[in-house]
Amino acid sequence: MKIVTRISELSHDVGTSIGLVPTMGGFHKGHLQLMKTAKEECDLVVASLFVNPTQFGEGEDFERYPRNLERDASLAEEVGVDVLFAPSPEEVYPRLGSVIHVPVVSKLWEGSHRPGHFEGVATVVCKLLNMVGPDVAYFGLKDLQQCLVVKRMVEDLNMPLTISLQPTVREEDGLAMSSRNAYLTHEERLLAPSVYRNLSECKQKLQVPDLTHEQAEGILHHAKTSLEDDGFRVDYFELIELETTKAVRNLSMQCALIAAARLGKTRLIDNVLL
Ligand code: AMP
Repeated sequence: MKIVTRISELSHDVGTSIGLVPTMGGFHKGHLQLMKTAKEECDLVVASLFVNPTQFGEGEDFERYPRNLERDASLAEEVGVDVLFAPSPEEVYPRLGSVIHVPVVSKLWEGSHRPGHFEGVATVVCKLLNMVGPDVAYFGLKDLQQCLVVKRMVEDLNMPLTISLQPTVREEDGLAMSSRNAYLTHEERLLAPSVYRNLSECKQKLQVPDLTHEQAEGILHHAKTSLEDDGFRVDYFELIELETTKAVRNLSMQCALIAAARLGKTRLIDNVLL
């Protein structure tokens, strides 16, 4: 595996299919599964490792985000990554530059709780796609709204590649794998699977026939308060339709249950598709 820090060192071989897995490092099985899938489907796999400053808000965890290039490089190599692209912030942002705003799907939920977050995500993903020139870029459904934003950007801007969305990889107790799980204390780690448990229970309850809007509202309210009773500060626990990300109370469209909840200093997000 080649470790590359400069954009000019990335090669573009004609006739080779390239899969890109954009990441911020702190690799876990979720990241590694994306890389394995890319390896199965493409001739050459590039994983990018860049803790993107522009997607962190003030007071967020940019400074303490897990960084360990040596460990990540060895894990990436084990799953067959060909090129690990780990540029510096100066390489990616040599000056105050253009910013991409994706309307509608970036407005609510993560968009409103983390102002500017999706502009940072869309801009860095667009730049990475242009730097690497992949045929397929792989993203995890763990970050559902991010997937919707990236997909929308690629469609709106006619970018010539396929976005492949991959299922969330979980710990045995259901907790979605995340680099941020490393922040959890032992006690918090024991509580953390409640987010997924509540999402799953809620999904089951919502899928009964002829559910009224009031019943759906009650089910969502119960799940949210049950997390709060466990000590979470819940940013949102919602049923949304995927097309617009607006909150809904019936399942006539493609929907998802989404949640963001804070446990101590850790913010957990998760979702289930319906
Ligand atoms: P990150 O390093 O957190 O920016 O994540 C890099 C990529 O890995 C993104 O596409 C994430 O959605 C994806 N990812 C993170 N956690 C998981 C997980 N538990 N399962 C599947 N994909 C994940």
